[in-house]
Amino acid sequence: MATINYERLQGKLNILADAAKYDVSCSSSAGTRKNQGGGLGDASATGICHSYTEDGRCVSLLKILLTNHCIYDCAYCTSRKSNDTPRAAFSVEEVVDLTMQFYRRNYIEGLFLSSGIFKSGDYTMERLVEVAKILRTRERFNGYIHLKTIPGASKELLLEAGLYADRLSVNIEIPTKSV
Ligand code: SF4
Repeated sequence: MATINYERLQGKLNILADAAKYDVSCSSSAGTRKNQGGGLGDASATGICHSYTEDGRCVSLLKILLTNHCIYDCAYCTSRKSNDTPRAAFSVEEVVDLTMQFYRRNYIEGLFLSSGIFKSGDYTMERLVEVAKILRTRERFNGYIHLKTIPGASKELLLEAGLYADRLSVNIEIPTKSV
Protein backbone atom coordinates (compact mmCIF):
# COMPACT_ATOMS: atom_id res chain seq x y z
CA MET A 1 0.00 0.00 0.00
CA ALA A 2 1.37 3.47 -0.95
CA THR A 3 2.52 5.82 1.84
CA ILE A 4 0.18 8.75 2.37
CA ASN A 5 1.58 12.30 2.51
CA TYR A 6 -0.65 13.91 5.16
CA GLU A 7 0.34 17.50 4.41
CA ARG A 8 -0.65 17.05 0.77
CA LEU A 9 -3.79 15.25 1.88
CA GLN A 10 -4.83 18.21 4.06
CA GLY A 11 -4.53 20.50 1.01
CA LYS A 12 -6.75 18.18 -1.01
CA LEU A 13 -9.22 17.93 1.87
CA ASN A 14 -9.55 21.72 2.01
CA ILE A 15 -10.40 21.91 -1.71
CA LEU A 16 -12.59 18.83 -2.00
CA ALA A 17 -14.59 19.33 1.21
CA ASP A 18 -15.25 22.93 0.18
CA ALA A 19 -16.34 21.88 -3.32
CA ALA A 20 -18.74 19.31 -1.83
CA LYS A 21 -20.65 21.89 0.21
CA TYR A 22 -22.76 22.87 -2.81
CA ASP A 23 -24.43 19.48 -2.77
CA VAL A 24 -27.46 20.05 -0.56
CA SER A 25 -28.43 16.45 0.00
CA CYS A 26 -27.21 16.81 3.55
CA SER A 27 -27.25 19.82 5.83
CA SER A 28 -24.21 21.67 7.14
CA SER A 29 -23.68 24.18 9.90
CA ALA A 30 -21.31 26.11 7.57
CA GLY A 31 -19.45 27.40 10.66
CA THR A 32 -16.25 29.39 10.10
CA ARG A 33 -15.07 30.02 13.68
CA LYS A 34 -11.55 28.65 14.22
CA ASN A 35 -9.95 27.41 17.43
CA GLN A 36 -7.60 30.23 18.43
CA GLY A 37 -5.28 27.95 20.38
CA GLY A 38 -7.15 26.98 23.53
CA GLY A 39 -9.93 24.70 24.71
CA LEU A 40 -11.51 21.84 22.84
CA GLY A 41 -12.77 21.70 19.25
CA ASP A 42 -13.02 23.87 16.17
CA ALA A 43 -16.11 25.05 14.28
CA SER A 44 -14.29 25.84 11.03
CA ALA A 45 -15.26 24.12 7.79
CA THR A 46 -13.81 20.60 7.82
CA GLY A 47 -16.16 18.77 5.50
CA ILE A 48 -18.21 17.20 8.27
CA CYS A 49 -21.95 17.43 7.56
CA HIS A 50 -25.12 15.73 8.69
CA SER A 51 -27.77 13.64 7.09
CA TYR A 52 -30.85 11.73 8.22
CA THR A 53 -31.36 8.00 8.00
CA GLU A 54 -34.75 6.54 7.12
CA ASP A 55 -35.46 5.91 10.82
CA GLY A 56 -34.87 9.62 11.57
CA ARG A 57 -31.38 9.45 13.09
CA CYS A 58 -29.02 12.31 12.37
CA VAL A 59 -25.55 11.09 11.36
CA SER A 60 -22.35 13.09 10.91
CA LEU A 61 -20.59 12.51 7.61
CA LEU A 62 -17.25 13.20 6.03
CA LYS A 63 -18.61 15.02 2.97
CA ILE A 64 -16.11 15.25 0.13
CA LEU A 65 -15.64 15.00 -3.60
CA LEU A 66 -13.28 12.38 -5.02
CA THR A 67 -12.25 15.13 -7.43
CA ASN A 68 -13.43 18.56 -8.57
CA HIS A 69 -11.82 18.04 -11.98
CA CYS A 70 -14.58 17.64 -14.55
CA ILE A 71 -14.70 17.11 -18.30
CA TYR A 72 -18.07 18.91 -18.48
CA ASP A 73 -18.95 22.57 -18.21
CA CYS A 74 -22.39 22.83 -16.60
CA ALA A 75 -23.06 26.54 -16.10
CA TYR A 76 -24.46 26.22 -12.54
CA CYS A 77 -21.60 24.11 -11.16
CA THR A 78 -18.49 25.28 -9.36
CA SER A 79 -16.56 22.25 -10.69
CA ARG A 80 -17.27 23.13 -14.35
CA LYS A 81 -14.14 22.89 -16.44
CA SER A 82 -14.14 26.58 -17.41
CA ASN A 83 -14.19 27.74 -13.77
CA ASP A 84 -10.89 29.15 -12.53
CA THR A 85 -10.74 27.31 -9.20
CA PRO A 86 -8.11 25.20 -7.39
CA ARG A 87 -8.38 21.55 -8.44
CA ALA A 88 -7.51 18.36 -6.59
CA ALA A 89 -8.21 14.65 -6.65
CA PHE A 90 -8.05 11.99 -3.97
CA SER A 91 -6.88 8.48 -4.69
CA VAL A 92 -9.17 5.65 -3.66
CA GLU A 93 -6.79 4.73 -0.82
CA GLU A 94 -6.70 8.32 0.46
CA VAL A 95 -10.49 8.42 0.82
CA VAL A 96 -10.47 5.03 2.55
CA ASP A 97 -7.73 6.17 4.92
CA LEU A 98 -9.41 9.50 5.74
CA THR A 99 -12.73 7.78 6.41
CA MET A 100 -11.17 5.20 8.72
CA GLN A 101 -9.07 7.76 10.58
CA PHE A 102 -11.98 10.17 11.09
CA TYR A 103 -14.23 7.31 12.16
CA ARG A 104 -11.71 5.95 14.66
CA ARG A 105 -11.41 9.43 16.18
CA ASN A 106 -15.21 9.53 16.48
CA TYR A 107 -15.44 12.63 14.23
CA ILE A 108 -17.89 10.98 11.85
CA GLU A 109 -20.40 8.18 11.55
CA GLY A 110 -20.07 7.83 7.80
CA LEU A 111 -18.96 9.03 4.37
CA PHE A 112 -20.73 11.14 1.75
CA LEU A 113 -18.82 10.83 -1.52
CA SER A 114 -19.55 12.62 -4.77
CA SER A 115 -17.29 13.62 -7.65
CA GLY A 116 -16.65 15.62 -10.76
CA ILE A 117 -16.19 13.43 -13.82
CA PHE A 118 -12.61 12.38 -14.61
CA LYS A 119 -12.59 10.70 -18.03
CA SER A 120 -16.05 9.24 -18.24
CA GLY A 121 -18.98 8.35 -16.03
CA ASP A 122 -17.82 4.73 -15.75
CA TYR A 123 -14.19 5.60 -14.97
CA THR A 124 -15.32 7.86 -12.12
CA MET A 125 -18.09 5.62 -10.79
CA GLU A 126 -15.65 2.68 -10.71
CA ARG A 127 -13.51 4.63 -8.25
CA LEU A 128 -16.46 5.56 -6.04
CA VAL A 129 -17.54 1.93 -5.94
CA GLU A 130 -13.96 0.87 -5.17
CA VAL A 131 -13.87 3.18 -2.13
CA ALA A 132 -17.09 1.71 -0.76
CA LYS A 133 -16.03 -1.87 -1.57
CA ILE A 134 -12.66 -1.53 0.19
CA LEU A 135 -14.28 0.11 3.21
CA ARG A 136 -16.83 -2.70 3.55
CA THR A 137 -14.67 -5.71 2.67
CA ARG A 138 -11.04 -4.99 3.57
CA GLU A 139 -11.59 -2.48 6.39
CA ARG A 140 -14.84 -4.06 7.61
CA PHE A 141 -16.33 -0.58 7.99
CA ASN A 142 -19.93 -0.68 9.13
CA GLY A 143 -20.56 3.07 9.19
CA TYR A 144 -22.93 4.89 6.87
CA ILE A 145 -21.96 5.33 3.20
CA HIS A 146 -23.80 7.67 0.83
CA LEU A 147 -22.57 7.63 -2.78
CA LYS A 148 -23.63 9.99 -5.54
CA THR A 149 -24.29 8.21 -8.80
CA ILE A 150 -22.26 9.62 -11.67
CA PRO A 151 -24.13 10.62 -14.85
CA GLY A 152 -23.49 8.15 -17.67
CA ALA A 153 -22.25 5.34 -15.41
CA SER A 154 -23.33 1.84 -16.44
CA LYS A 155 -26.21 -0.01 -14.82
CA GLU A 156 -23.74 -2.73 -13.70
CA LEU A 157 -21.67 -0.22 -11.73
CA LEU A 158 -24.76 1.29 -10.12
CA LEU A 159 -25.90 -2.19 -9.10
CA GLU A 160 -22.47 -2.89 -7.62
CA ALA A 161 -22.52 0.44 -5.76
CA GLY A 162 -25.81 -0.66 -4.21
CA LEU A 163 -24.09 -3.70 -2.69
CA TYR A 164 -21.91 -1.49 -0.49
CA ALA A 165 -23.63 1.88 0.00
CA ASP A 166 -26.45 2.62 2.43
CA ARG A 167 -27.74 5.30 0.10
CA LEU A 168 -27.31 6.15 -3.58
CA SER A 169 -28.62 9.43 -4.87
CA VAL A 170 -28.88 11.31 -8.13
CA ASN A 171 -28.69 15.06 -8.68
CA ILE A 172 -31.36 16.39 -11.00
CA GLU A 173 -30.88 20.00 -12.04
CA ILE A 174 -33.73 22.00 -13.53
CA PRO A 175 -32.77 23.97 -16.62
CA THR A 176 -33.85 27.58 -17.00
CA LYS A 177 -33.58 30.02 -19.87
CA SER A 178 -30.02 31.40 -19.84
CA VAL A 179 -29.75 35.16 -19.24
S1 SF4 B 1 -20.98 17.03 -14.76
FE1 SF4 B 1 -21.40 17.37 -12.57
S2 SF4 B 1 -19.45 17.98 -11.65
FE2 SF4 B 1 -19.23 18.20 -13.88
S3 SF4 B 1 -19.70 20.35 -14.32
FE3 SF4 B 1 -21.61 19.18 -14.56
S4 SF4 B 1 -22.65 19.25 -12.57
FE4 SF4 B 1 -20.48 19.86 -12.25
